[in-house]
Amino acid sequence: MQRKSRRDHHSFQPETLALGLGYDPALSEGALKMPVFLTSNFLFTNAEQGRRFFQAAYGLAEMPKGEAMGLIYSRLNNPNLEIYEERIAALEGMDRAALFASGMSAIATTLLALARPGDAILSTAPVYGGTHFLLEKILPPLGIEVHWTPAGDEAPAGLEQAARQYGDRVRMLYLETPANPTLSLTDIRAVADLAARLSTPDRRVLVAVDNTFLGPVFQKPRDFGADLVFYSATKFLGGHSDLVAGVTIADRATMAEVLTYRTILGTVAEPFTAWLLSRSLETLSVRMRRQAKTARILARLLAEHRHVRKVWYPGILEPGTPQAELFARQCSGPGSLIAFEIEGGEAEAFAVLDRLEVVRLAVSLGGTESLAEHPMRMTHADVPPELLGAHGVTESMIRISVGLEHVDDLKRDLVQA
Ligand code: PLP
Repeated sequence: MQRKSRRDHHSFQPETLALGLGYDPALSEGALKMPVFLTSNFLFTNAEQGRRFFQAAYGLAEMPKGEAMGLIYSRLNNPNLEIYEERIAALEGMDRAALFASGMSAIATTLLALARPGDAILSTAPVYGGTHFLLEKILPPLGIEVHWTPAGDEAPAGLEQAARQYGDRVRMLYLETPANPTLSLTDIRAVADLAARLSTPDRRVLVAVDNTFLGPVFQKPRDFGADLVFYSATKFLGGHSDLVAGVTIADRATMAEVLTYRTILGTVAEPFTAWLLSRSLETLSVRMRRQAKTARILARLLAEHRHVRKVWYPGILEPGTPQAELFARQCSGPGSLIAFEIEGGEAEAFAVLDRLEVVRLAVSLGGTESLAEHPMRMTHADVPPELLGAHGVTESMIRISVGLEHVDDLKRDLVQA
């Protein structure tokens, strides 16, 4: 786009890109920070220009050489969205991002754009409850079959076995790693190698990774061969529990299809949400690193506590185990989500949740404040308990998202609860 600075961004580190990429102050009265472009539509300089923009927007013709595509209407594009999309794609090390009204609208719009009746999606489990609902209840009546394979060490072999059953109908291998809420890690490289073996010259099997828990600071799925990355930007990317948004990132050709669906389904984010997200991107790395540092201390504290049966946290995996080795290969930090199981059942877990004072009792994650919830009865309430049980989610499991409070206050709060 004409309004964007053309500096080559490959020579800059993510923290630097988050501050400047894609915004040209000269096009906004010299404003240091990008203004909020709260406008539904944009003026054409003349009717002929409007015609050309629409031809390009609907894929009817390319823009003439030397002329950039311009802005039309905020359901198609808007400067706040374009600037954020350019930054988050660069941070992920991928071509093109699209910002959506929620994580669920990013995932749903993308899957609707890329899967057709007769196709099969092979997914790891568990996944976030909303994603589970989409895959289990919304896609199958549209003719898209879904198969579940346990996340973790056995996932690549499990997906390979399932792929034999579905043959050339396999369209996508869907991973959530770390998985919500068990934090099991799945080997993206091994799954991408499987996708390459399953792909044919006229049928590419895509690997999609929900990178909400670690990315882009601690995990870059593209480096391990993933084709698509999803975010609930409501979480760390937003980071302050004050917005709902989602992101899909992929190569240009894949994103062209996704963007057409976003335009027609209208699942696009608001300009102000994009502005808030650009602001949050400036502190993302600082927030995620500090939250992970505190989480590591809390995970150790929990692991040693006499009333805690088990702790799931990528930062305290037993050395030498396949999960620990995968963590070392695939992630540069453990993030700040901890799941733990206390002695007892649901009543005891609820009692702990009700006694927390600093950690707040609420779903969602990745914000500045620490939050705790009960996956089985809250975020994953729609998933049958026996299925959750098979993936290690029990009645006594609590999930916490560690925020930016002082570590001593959080330690005291967990112990007293
Ligand atoms: N993916 C993961 C891993 C999540 O935890 C969530 C929400 O909790 C989503 C996707 C859905 O995102 P949203 O709530 O922004 O629609």
